[in-house]
Amino acid sequence: MNNKRIDLHMHSLFSDGELLPSEIARRAYVLGHEAIAITDHVDYSNIEYISEIQAAIDDINSNWDINVLLGAEITHVPPSSIEPLAGKARDSGAKIVVVHGETLSEPVIEGTNLAAVSCKDVDILGHPGLISKEEAEIAKENDIALEISCRAGHCLGNGHVAQIAREVGNALVIDTDSHAPEDLADFNTAYKIGLGAGLSKEETLRALVDNPKHIIEKRV
Ligand SMILES: [Zn+2]
Ligand SMILES: [Zn+2]
Repeated sequence: MNNKRIDLHMHSLFSDGELLPSEIARRAYVLGHEAIAITDHVDYSNIEYISEIQAAIDDINSNWDINVLLGAEITHVPPSSIEPLAGKARDSGAKIVVVHGETLSEPVIEGTNLAAVSCKDVDILGHPGLISKEEAEIAKENDIALEISCRAGHCLGNGHVAQIAREVGNALVIDTDSHAPEDLADFNTAYKIGLGAGLSKEETLRALVDNPKHIIEKRV
């Protein structure tokens, strides 16, 4: 398959990832990515500082053939703080705003999915676990994509997310949530993870190509 990969959920060592932004970008480029977003974990302690990696992003984008986007992942905050933090992320220059959804593998507080899909500054509800149909409907209305996760633990909800998204008509994206070099996934690997979640070939291609492109076009 000659498609280029887009991964809009990745962590650098500015939160709990292992790599610098430039190291992630270089590895992603070699694996055939055309665009990535660096979405480090944020709450009120560090939201003002996400733009500190912008200089590295500008350096990468002007020298290599890959589009790196500044992002943020709002993580484990009270649901009522999601909307103000998403606004602050935009003010700090974030192009891609992810919310750390109610994954089956962590005690994310109930109400996080609902607050995330209700906020139009959010682009992607990451690993939404057992998201309800009502939440999925609000996500669709607000043009917020749901994530099929390549990450161990978070991926336990993928089958349910795929099923709900098909029922409601949600846009899906397939992201790695990479924290380490071995977490990155090339197009074929991500394609198989889409099929493994129960998506059809067409649904998988939409989740890998059209839907992330739509998010980038909307925000950049
Ligand atoms: Zn993390
Ligand atoms: Zn997350």
